[in-house]
Amino acid sequence: MIPWAEDKLAEAREHALAEYPNECCGIVIGKPDHPEKDIIFQCTNIQNQLHEQDPQTYRRDARTAYFIDPGELMRIMKKAAEQDLVIKLFYHSHPEHDAYFSEEDKQMALFDNEPAYPDARYLVISVYNREIRDQAFFEWNPETQGFEKLSL
Ligand SMILES: [Zn+2]
Repeated sequence: MIPWAEDKLAEAREHALAEYPNECCGIVIGKPDHPEKDIIFQCTNIQNQLHEQDPQTYRRDARTAYFIDPGELMRIMKKAAEQDLVIKLFYHSHPEHDAYFSEEDKQMALFDNEPAYPDARYLVISVYNREIRDQAFFEWNPETQGFEKLSL
């Protein structure tokens, strides 16, 4: 079973192509067993601004990293809380890289060595030369303390 509605997946893929050669990022909120109610938000990747302002801390630019605009993230969290919805999915793209969950992706998804959003899955979309090559979903496995690829 796919964890979310096909049309939202298509929108995330479109977003990945639109942002190429930079990484895109976005969020899906909804009710756990109701993919038809999912709401997708295409977020702004502010990694290039961070990299320009502080290249020591933010060594990568948006071609190999993403950072969701914190104001957008806050508004989405607020909307979810008001409507009794959860964050179901974070997605981002890997331009010119495969659909794996990188060490940086893991660090972004953890807070104090625990998943920051326990209900959320993560979608990584691989884009090579302006074409979608692959995609993969990942979820936290408490036993292995890692993010593992879902077999769908
Ligand atoms: Zn990544």
